[in-house]
Amino acid sequence: MHLAPKIFATPRRYVQGPGVIRTIAGKQMAIFGRKAIVIGGPRSLEAVKEAGLYQTLDSAGISYVIETFGRECTHEEIKRLTDIGQDAGCDLAIAVGGGKAMDAGKVVGDTLGESIMIPTQVGTNASESALSVIYTKDHVFEEYKFLNKNPALLLVDTEVIAKSPIRYLIGGIGDASSEKFEGEACYRTGSKNLIEAPEWVGYTSALSLKLCQLAYEYLREYGEAALESAARQAVTPALENIVEAIILWSGAGFECTGLAGAHSIHNGITEIEHLIPENKRPLHGEIVAWGVIAQLFLENRPRKEIEEYAEWARRVALPMTFEEMGFPSGSPNDEDLWKAAEKACAEGETIHCMAFDIQPQWVFDAMKTADEFGKKVAKRIPKPTF
Ligand SMILES: [Zn+2]
Repeated sequence: MHLAPKIFATPRRYVQGPGVIRTIAGKQMAIFGRKAIVIGGPRSLEAVKEAGLYQTLDSAGISYVIETFGRECTHEEIKRLTDIGQDAGCDLAIAVGGGKAMDAGKVVGDTLGESIMIPTQVGTNASESALSVIYTKDHVFEEYKFLNKNPALLLVDTEVIAKSPIRYLIGGIGDASSEKFEGEACYRTGSKNLIEAPEWVGYTSALSLKLCQLAYEYLREYGEAALESAARQAVTPALENIVEAIILWSGAGFECTGLAGAHSIHNGITEIEHLIPENKRPLHGEIVAWGVIAQLFLENRPRKEIEEYAEWARRVALPMTFEEMGFPSGSPNDEDLWKAAEKACAEGETIHCMAFDIQPQWVFDAMKTADEFGKKVAKRIPKPTF
C-alpha cells in the first residue's frame, strides 16, 4: 500500500500573554538574529514602542532599523523593505501590526534570514504561516506567495491586542471560524495542504484538522466573552483563549489543512470591493465568514448546520448580507456578482479543493442564496454592539 506524505509546519516558538514584549521577549528574539529591520504601520510601531519593544531589543543586544510599512503588501513594497534590510546588514525581520505587515515581513525575513511576528491586532491568522497574500496597490488579490520558512517566533502581547480596535477581533474570529469548514472540505476530498507549493506534496495530518475544529469550538464557546472583555480593554482567560485560537490554532490549521470555498469567495469579493465606499470596506475575516455561509450552501450542508453557523456569526457581529459588508443598497448587481464568481473560480483558487468541479454559476447562485438567507438571520437576531 502506498500512503501519501503528510506535512505539518509551524513557527518554532510561540509566546503569548499580557506584557510579554516587556518581560520575556528579548531572550526569545535573540535566539534568531542580531540585527533586525522592524516593519510596521505608524500606529503599530507606536503600540510596540509603548509596550517596551525597543528597550527589550536593546537589552537583548539586538540592533535595529525601523521602517514604516506602506499601505499594501505588494511586490514593490516587499522589494523596497528587503533592499533596506540587506543594505543595513539585517539577518532578521520583525513585523508588527496586522495581516498585511505580517505578510510583507514574512517575505522580507525569508530573504534576510529569519522573521519574527508581533501582531498588534488579530484581524487575520496571517502571522503563523509560510505564505503571504500579495495584493495590487489598489487592494485586489493578486497571488499567494509561498515561502521557505514559517516565522521563527510568534510573539503575542495580549495587553496590546486588548487595546486594538475591537473590529479587528471580530474579523479575526470570522477568519478563524472558516477553517473548520474549509479544512473539512479539504480533508474529505484528500486535497493537499498549503505547504510546499508549487509541488503540492503535503496531505493533511489528523492534528491539523483537529486544530481547525478546536479553534471553532473555542470561538463558539469564548468568542462573545472575549469581545466583551476587549470592549473594555480587559485581558481575560476568554480573550487569551480566542487569541490563541485565532493566531496559533487556526493559523496552523489553515496552512496545514488547506483552504477551500470561503477564502476563494473572499478573493472574488475583493474583485468588486471598489463598489463599497472606502470608509465602509469590510475586513478580510468579515468577508471570509460570509464566504463560509456561501460555501455551506454550495456544499449543500444540512439546514441546521448553516443556521447554527450563521446565528453564532451574528452574535459575534459578523456581516450577514452584502449590505452589511458595506455594499450600497441594490449592489452588487448580477454583472458585478458574476465577476466575483469568476474570480472565485479562477485557476489556482482553493475552491477547486472542494468535492466537485466547481463552476462560476454555482458560486454565483450560492452567493445570492447566502445574501437572501443572511437577510432573514439579520432580521431575526439583532446585531450586537461591542
Ligand atoms: Zn484568511
